[in-house]
Amino acid sequence: MSAIEQKSPYQIAQEQFDLAAEFMGLEDDLRHVLRVPKRELTTTFPVRMDDGSVKAFTGYRVQHNVTRGPGKGGIRYHQDVTLDEVRALAMWMTWKCAVVNIPFGGAKGGVVVDPTGLSMRELENLTRRFATEISPLIGHDGDIPAPDVNTNQQIMAWLMDTISMHTGHLESAITTGKPLGLGGSLGRADATGRGVSFVVASAAKFLNLDLNGATTVVQGFGNVGSVSATMLHDLGCKIVGISDVNGGICNKDGIDPHALVRHMKKTRTVIDYPGVERISNSELLELPCEILVPAALEKQITADNAARIRPKILAEGANGPTTPEADEILFSNNVFVVPDILANAGGVTVSYFEWVQDLQSFFWNEDEINHRLKLVMDASFQAVNQRAQAHKIPLRLAANILAIERVAEATRLRGIYP
Ligand code: NAD
Repeated sequence: MSAIEQKSPYQIAQEQFDLAAEFMGLEDDLRHVLRVPKRELTTTFPVRMDDGSVKAFTGYRVQHNVTRGPGKGGIRYHQDVTLDEVRALAMWMTWKCAVVNIPFGGAKGGVVVDPTGLSMRELENLTRRFATEISPLIGHDGDIPAPDVNTNQQIMAWLMDTISMHTGHLESAITTGKPLGLGGSLGRADATGRGVSFVVASAAKFLNLDLNGATTVVQGFGNVGSVSATMLHDLGCKIVGISDVNGGICNKDGIDPHALVRHMKKTRTVIDYPGVERISNSELLELPCEILVPAALEKQITADNAARIRPKILAEGANGPTTPEADEILFSNNVFVVPDILANAGGVTVSYFEWVQDLQSFFWNEDEINHRLKLVMDASFQAVNQRAQAHKIPLRLAANILAIERVAEATRLRGIYP
């Protein structure tokens, strides 16, 4: 792997920012402010385990920018979480919210833990104590967490309940991605994958690619991957390859993702699905196809494999799946890359709808939510793509420029206090 590929996600996020700032001629004063996080909280806290012992865990909450609205971003539970990873994810949240023009800033949180090793009680203890530790930052008008890798609706319910216990009343708008019975929004669970399918449809229309029978590969079959695959299948695409952490499967005649979802409920993996060929995750990414959706991890498409990855459309369901070096190779090969901050923004958009509904205590029906999501995703795609075509630049650079312009304008208008 080359030197650039060794960079941390935070270094990559800053490099992407610098590229956009340079292209748009952003003034130095704003560059200094916008390329680093505003606030960072690191906490090491005790949790009582089931056997009576006490263990210490470390967690982070980073607010990259809160100029356009409260910090917004998920909380990740993973053994590999680092402060640098959380900083990058917080920064990408700032640009993501600005690209789809919702009134939020960017934040992210994480705890260094492998949650698969915890009982439900230990997971609840850890969540409630972490919520207490980050509570000085959290609030419906300050910073609003959401689920991310290995966190879910139940964890959002515990987090919300803990903050509500501190304030003495229900604080439903302090998290999103909650269960429906606690102020969650219809359509939130499918929103990210639905948004991916909307941007793929817009990109296909722009490129004159017929979605009917378009060969499609999806890496990752969790929340984002499974919904993206089923929705693209329903639009007529032929899903020829799918993978999860255990490996990949392919079939040139097509895989029915609805049947695969039912299969997953029984065996919890895609690799033992009948009637398909087994392949590795790296072979999966290089399968010939017209549409590729990476929906698993960061840094999957690098200088090492980018030259062999030749879809017509690459829509980033995951955050940060493509390195800057790979971006250059894909652009020179005419791969139409729809970047993460646009392609997977459907999730935060419906999180915004959830927050609005909670604040108003007035809930919308699912058709209204999906319709409003489509309006936001279609308009954002057009705004980014027009800019990309006008300047003959990649969509990632165009999206970053649009986002940075919006945050920079808000910063100039607010001025520097005092
Ligand atoms: P998830 O935990 O539901 O699913 C992750 C999937 O990736 C699983 O199928 C897992 O088996 C697979 N996977 C893990 N390691 C892998 C590997 N080495 N190779 C191939 N597959 C692997 O997570 P998710 O919510 O679907 O999130 C996936 C990505 O999308 C993350 O980058 C996340 O930050 C991003 N994202 C999620 C949302 C959301 O609303 N859930 C919104 C925006 C972005």
